[in-house]
Amino acid sequence: MDGRFAEVIVDVAHSDVDKIFDYSCGEEVAAGMRVVVPFGNRTETGFVMRVKESTDCPPEKLRKIYRVEDDLPAINPECLLLAQKISARYRCPMALSLRLFLPAEMRTGKVDKTYREYIRLAAELPSVNPRAAAQLACIQYLEEHGETPAAELRKRFPSAVSALKKSGALVIEKKRIMRRPYEDVAGGEEEHILTPAQERAVATVKETPKTVTLLHGVTGSGKTEVYLTLIAAALKEGKTALFLVPEISLTPQMFSKLRGRFRRRVAILHSGLSAGERFDEWERLRTGEARIAVGARSAVFAPVEDIGLIVIDEEHDGSYSSETSPRYNTFDIAYLRAKYNGCKLVLGSATPSVETYRRAKEGEFELISMPDRINARPMPKVELVDMRREVRRGNATPFSLSLREKLKTCLEKGNQAIIFLNRRGYSQTVMCRDCGHVVKCESCDVALTYHSEEDCLKCHYCGARYKPLSACPACGGTHIHYMGTGTQRVAGELKKLYPAARILRMDLDTTSGKEGHYKILKQFAERSADILVGTQMVAKGHDFPAVTLVGILDADMSLHFPDYRSGERTFQLITQVAGRSGRAGAEGEVVLQTYDPENYILRFAAKYDYEGFFEHEISMRAATMFPPFVKVVRVMVTGEDEKETVGALRSVYEKLRKIYAAHEEEFLFFNRMHAPIKRIQNKFRYQVLMRMTPQGPLKEVYAAAMEEKYKNVLVYVEENPSNLS
Ligand code: ADP
Ligand code: ZN
Repeated sequence: MDGRFAEVIVDVAHSDVDKIFDYSCGEEVAAGMRVVVPFGNRTETGFVMRVKESTDCPPEKLRKIYRVEDDLPAINPECLLLAQKISARYRCPMALSLRLFLPAEMRTGKVDKTYREYIRLAAELPSVNPRAAAQLACIQYLEEHGETPAAELRKRFPSAVSALKKSGALVIEKKRIMRRPYEDVAGGEEEHILTPAQERAVATVKETPKTVTLLHGVTGSGKTEVYLTLIAAALKEGKTALFLVPEISLTPQMFSKLRGRFRRRVAILHSGLSAGERFDEWERLRTGEARIAVGARSAVFAPVEDIGLIVIDEEHDGSYSSETSPRYNTFDIAYLRAKYNGCKLVLGSATPSVETYRRAKEGEFELISMPDRINARPMPKVELVDMRREVRRGNATPFSLSLREKLKTCLEKGNQAIIFLNRRGYSQTVMCRDCGHVVKCESCDVALTYHSEEDCLKCHYCGARYKPLSACPACGGTHIHYMGTGTQRVAGELKKLYPAARILRMDLDTTSGKEGHYKILKQFAERSADILVGTQMVAKGHDFPAVTLVGILDADMSLHFPDYRSGERTFQLITQVAGRSGRAGAEGEVVLQTYDPENYILRFAAKYDYEGFFEHEISMRAATMFPPFVKVVRVMVTGEDEKETVGALRSVYEKLRKIYAAHEEEFLFFNRMHAPIKRIQNKFRYQVLMRMTPQGPLKEVYAAAMEEKYKNVLVYVEENPSNLS
């Protein structure tokens, strides 16, 4: 049949409706638009994938699109193609991958565009009674100030406005208001003259024939300046840019740098914004008003066209892997976009992931190293402190004597300090001294943490709160012991030791809500506090010139996670936190406390020896066959009912076992088991864990895991998951 037809994906994330439906449509419909269509006996939103001249759909079945939702297609041609690739790669319904490209608030229809009334003078003024002084004043005001918000004008000339309106002297017009997040951030940052190392980095990225460049530069080597210079160059060519950072790096300093340099051409997308703000920023990109998208992982889907550069800062950061379906890796998406647009992709880090660094060393990526800090400032000296000796000496506090002395000096000099430990709350676990019972969450197989401020026990997996215990639920004993130290306890102890010091705490408990960390970082940057205590949130990218001391309280803690990447993580974390010290004039110091001072990871970290760490780590991964030499693939099966969950596990396992049997030589490991945490939020968790060669049958595994839907049970696939709990 001939005419005009649209291929539509209905916005329902169910595999049964995950196909293209043809509708007849008018001239106003174009690919990438959202449309409202009849679907069965319902009305649904859909995405137009393509518009065509003929259809195979029989005329009696063909229905008409009700209406279009956008004037401008919400999804551009590149992104439509990308959505298809994502669906194929991760085996998810098209509706899910298309949703990645829209701000959530657009789909749910929860934000309205905001309008405001403005008043200006009519082109031809009617005559005004010369004795109506207020009216004359109002006209004069408009002549001088031009168009004025109606509310303001009414306030100034309460009686005159309505009279003038009646006489036809005024034109009232509604205009769309764009909410402008972080407008208060002053952008005063001037451009630096690039150092020779920065110049070289910029030139290398521009000249290399390789798509991907890894910029390996120590903390404070001036990587940000390199990115900004490259972004400016892309803009100058009339192109756009994507600048991806971990959520936590979206700091006031970052905003002011970007605003100062690029003004309104930059749009910021991040979860701290209100729904309305996020939507408006997104739309500024879509219309081309803004040309640089800055944001966390999801900004890789920003609606820009003709991209000239993509930057992934802190490329090693775990937040670049999505933890909801589709479980994409930001690098993979960025790479596809770079290829499509024929532009460069720059990865930056002081501690690149082992996998990325290997690809760079083997020549797949261009490698630039910037081994020196700006102005040849020395890296802060790291002192490794053996905490076993502190305990033997009778020091039961979380602080070594050395750290205490250095803190004292630091504060006396009027400098700032950062104290890092990777555990929030007051204690780590709550245990009965009489019987050894550890208090766990009722919905999760997880020990509870005591929080002193709210005086309650919290589950860090589901957020549930419980009353603190007066007696052990198992034996009735009353010797309840709060084991381990968290940020609350540390902040409290610091207050006792340094009563005059102003202490800020930054962890998940203190940063909730809009602009949560933004506020804390701002206070610390403005020096309204002397010590910042925090979890890994304090580690990332911040540039506080007055910080001269960093204390790392439990350097080994992350070494003992049951994860092949725990050594890498620990090295990265220590290097990042240490890098906050001594960034400006005064020389910085770092105290690294550990119960395992011989550990090679800590030794390399204390010397800033990335190369040494890498060589050691890569040879170990090769010997034990872990990524990047193989792929860790985990198929998770979770559900509230244990029987149903185990049933689904059995069925998935059978399918996977056939794949395993057919490709046995590709597998190094294949087994089903409980996940390390057996239950989270009342859901039982089982897994089929595999390690396979890079050529292994990954596609088949996806197909086997995703093809069947199980009642009340969720099945999903993770590749090299950043969290194996
Ligand atoms: P990185 O991102 O590598 O950790 P930054 O980009 O934050 O490093 O730079 C560290 C500091 O050096 C910042 O305060 C920055 O303003 C400053 N800086 C960067 N480039 C220059 C330059 N060419 N000249 C002078 N100062 C610079
Ligand atoms: Zn829980």
